[in-house]
Parts: sequence; structure tokens; C-alpha cells
Amino acid sequence: MTAPPYSQLLIGQLLRAPAGSDPDQTIHDGAGRVQTYRQFHARIGQLAAALARMGLGRGATIAVMDWDTPRYLECFFAVPMIGATLHTVNIRLSPEQVLFTINHAEDDAVLCHADFLPMLLPLLPRIRRPARLIFLTDGPAVLPPGFAGEYESLLAAESADFAYPDLPEDSRATLFYTTGTTGDPKGVSYSHRQLVLHTLAVTAGFGTVPGKGGVKRDDVYMPLTPLFHVHGWGFPYVATFLGLKQIYPGRYDPARLLALIAEHKVTFSHCVPTILSMLLDAADAARSDLSGWKVVIGGAALSEGLARRALDKGINIHAAYGMSETCPFVTMADMVASQSDDDITIRTATGRAAPLVELRVVDPQMRDVPHDGRTTGEVVARAPWLTAGYLHNPQGSADLWQGGWLHTGDVAHMTANGTLRITDRLKDVIKSGGEWVSSLALENLASTAPGLREVAAVGVPDERWGERPVLVVVLAGSEPVDAAIKQRLSGAIAAGDLPKWAMPDRICVVTSLPRTSVGKIDKKLIRQMMAKGEIA
Ligand code: AMP
Repeated sequence: MTAPPYSQLLIGQLLRAPAGSDPDQTIHDGAGRVQTYRQFHARIGQLAAALARMGLGRGATIAVMDWDTPRYLECFFAVPMIGATLHTVNIRLSPEQVLFTINHAEDDAVLCHADFLPMLLPLLPRIRRPARLIFLTDGPAVLPPGFAGEYESLLAAESADFAYPDLPEDSRATLFYTTGTTGDPKGVSYSHRQLVLHTLAVTAGFGTVPGKGGVKRDDVYMPLTPLFHVHGWGFPYVATFLGLKQIYPGRYDPARLLALIAEHKVTFSHCVPTILSMLLDAADAARSDLSGWKVVIGGAALSEGLARRALDKGINIHAAYGMSETCPFVTMADMVASQSDDDITIRTATGRAAPLVELRVVDPQMRDVPHDGRTTGEVVARAPWLTAGYLHNPQGSADLWQGGWLHTGDVAHMTANGTLRITDRLKDVIKSGGEWVSSLALENLASTAPGLREVAAVGVPDERWGERPVLVVVLAGSEPVDAAIKQRLSGAIAAGDLPKWAMPDRICVVTSLPRTSVGKIDKKLIRQMMAKGEIA
């Protein structure tokens, strides 16, 4: 028996029945424009109607190239609600990679902000499928050649009462591309059902934390993860479902982000460590008050040093874990157990499984390793919202789901109570004399050295040992950090927490570390730079 259409889990339901339904609650952009949820709902209807008028509907794929704006949030809803797929283009990729993703996704339309025209326009002759172009602008609406219309004018011409189609919950809702260490970007997609279940589980996981932690209906939300990165980690759906006051900051500029946090009294954000580190630098310089701000760090490990810096500023900081292929949340730090500021270990641990997630740490034969908080293996997962596979890539999809579990490619250990700690990415492990050295353990210990701003541990080829660990560091000032780092590592070796071969051969000082397109430290590039002698 097939389920009746009204029982399907659809993204529209997150919008139609928000948990805190105050139609006068507001959504802001970074330039002072504001709309109420009532207006937001109307604009989604108008956008849906405008897209439908252009012949876009079920089965279409609609790309967006924009900063983090309320307009983008409107697309998060209107596009899937008309039965189309929202392709969130990673505007930090190279133009050739952007072209690859637009062609691979077979986009039928591209909504492009004026700032990205210099990237898009030269690519147009090589976009294989004829795509309708919609112009997004914060300035005067002078339509570029070839564009079908400007966003605001298109919306203004439509009524808000769009009759959304009934859809099967397995309809594809979102698509984006993740870049691996090799090869072309890989397309990852999610269905309505997956996004609704992810939203509900994240709401339950973060919403039921007693006291000061988690996400509550009186929070003020501002994403600091670009909306193209795993649809802003799914939080825009959560924030809208909860009816929160939301701030979409536009282009990330540290001074403006701090001003927005202060102006709107933002209480909840999420970002990768490098963004927080950048904001803390700016906050130190501007003496900003960030107390009471809750920040979830993901996308890379939260080091003790960064957590300590944030806590010293009164930020309530926790780690969470996931990846592009997992929608993304699969774990979150135990926010209940970390109510005391000192509990750095709990705040920085990769956390425990989110609701409805099954996690295992396994050896290469898929046998569970002991849950002793020491023995490492690969993290594999199951949950109702993990991606089914990569677009047009059966081999990649089969590898991802080998043995019926999603392989994360992350190395971790687990304690008896299910707390996971990632020690490495399989691709980044350092193997010295046949033994693994945890790059994240080295970085974590080094991160607390005074005067250190950022650190990356990488393996460099070594004739005798195969590989040897090297630290690449960015200093906060001019004081050297080698002695303090070595002291911390020696202490950990003496205590038996690190093997003695983990002591890095070298500590290289650089002025900045290379970043990936989603703002994480790019270890692959660091290794290449070391091989070429560009870092020594
Ligand atoms: P992405 O697909 O770009 O979101 O990257 C996902 C990867 O980021 C994961 O496979 C991990 O290697 C890493 N990652 C995400 N969250 C954490 C975390 N809390 N601790 C350590 N690594 C993390």
C-alpha cells in the first residue's frame, strides 16, 4: 500500500508549521533590510510562482550563486517546494570547477549575484544545457545581457498564493558538490524526507539540552557556515522550523560580523574553526563582547587552544561532527555534561551520536574495535538522512556504502559511553615506522601553547621511517613557540598519551595556512608545498 500524499515528509511542512509561530518574528540581511516571517512566506510563494512561470518545476535543477542572504533562504524553501532541486553552488571553487558542477548537475536555471558575474559570464558559452539566468543584486537592477529577469522584479510581478504540488517525500530537494583530495567534485544530494528528518533530529538533539546550551526558541541565529556548505549544515531549516529571529550576514567580513552579532544580540552560530579564530582576532582588536554567544564548531576538530580562547571570551563553545555525505550532523558534543566551563575535554570531543544515528568504529574487516577510548578504527554510520550516493558515480557510491554502512574516511576511537574522538582523516594520517601518529592529537596539544595562532600536523616522506610528523604553525605575535610546544608534547609522551615517535622532527613557521574552498586548513596543499620546499 502506498502512503497517501498528505503523509509525506516535505520541506514545506517545516515552513507551514514552525514550532514558534510568530508571524511578526524577523529575518534580517547584513545591510539593514528586514522582513517578517509573514513576508517571508509570501515571498517564497512569489518566488515559486516566478520559477513556475519560467517553466521550472518538478525535475528541474536550479542553481544559486549568492552570499548568505535571506533571498538564499527563500530558495532553500521555494525551489524544493515546487519539486525542483536546489543546487547550492560552491562559489569558492575555481571557475573550471564551478563550470564542472553546473554541467554535471545539468542545471536548468542559475540565480547569480552581481558579485559572481565575472565568474559566470565567461563560462556561459561552455554551459551545455541552456539555463535560464536570474539576476540577484543589492544595487541597481540593470539586467546583464542574457538574463531572463531580476529577482525582486520577478517576485513583485507574482501573487503569493502559489499552489504547491504534492510530492513524493523521496523527491530530490538539494544537491551540492564536495571536493575530495583527488578527481572532480562529487555531487551529493538529499531528499525532502531526509532533510525533514535531519531537521527534526537536530532540533531534538540541540533543543533538549537543559540550561544554557543547545538551541531554544528565544535564540537569535546567524549562520557562519556558507549556505553552499552542506546547506549551511542544515541549520537554516532548523532555525526556520523553530521560528527564530535570523540574520544572514552576506559576505563574511569580520568587522561586519561582529557588528551584526552586537546589533542583533546573536546567541547561536556555527562555523569551522578558522572562521572562529578569525573572529576572535577581530574581537580582540575591537574589544567586542561575545559573552553568551553559543557556537557549534564542525567541519574540522575543535582544538583545546581555540576552545580555551573562546571560553575566555565567554563563548559557550561545543564541537559537532559530520560531513557532506551525512547531511551533515551525526554527532554533537555532550552539552549537558559540559555545563562547567572547565570541561574542555567534553566540549572538544567529537561527541555522541545524534538522535536516530548509529555509529560504529571498525577495523578493515568491519569488526567493531573495543570501546576503550584508545583503539582506533574507521567511523561508519547509518541514519535516515545519509546520502544514498554520489550523482552519476556508481563506483564512488558503492565504495561509500561498502558493507551497508556509510564509510566516513575518518579515524576515531570511542569510549564505553559512546563518546567519539576523531584522531585523523584516513587521507591525512601520519605513519611513522609503521605506526600511526594522530595528527589531531599533535595539533590539539600544540594549540594550547601561548603565542600560537594556528597549527597543522602533516606527515612528510622520510627514508628511514616512511613518514615523520612535522608541525606547521602560525604565530600570534613574534614570540617563538617551539619550546612551549615541545614541552607539551614531551609531557604527553611522558604520561603515555602519545608515543615517543610522535615528537615532530620540525616546527615550521609560516604567515598563514592555505585553506580549502570551505575555509578549512588544506593539509593536502601543505604537503605539496613542503614537497616543493615552499614551506621549510
Ligand atoms: P565536509 O564534507 O567538507 O563537511 O568535511 C567533512 C570532514 O570534516 C569529516 O569527514 C571530518 O574529517 C572533518 N570533521 C568534521 N567535523 C569534525 C570534528 N568535529 N572533528 C574532527 N573532524 C571533523
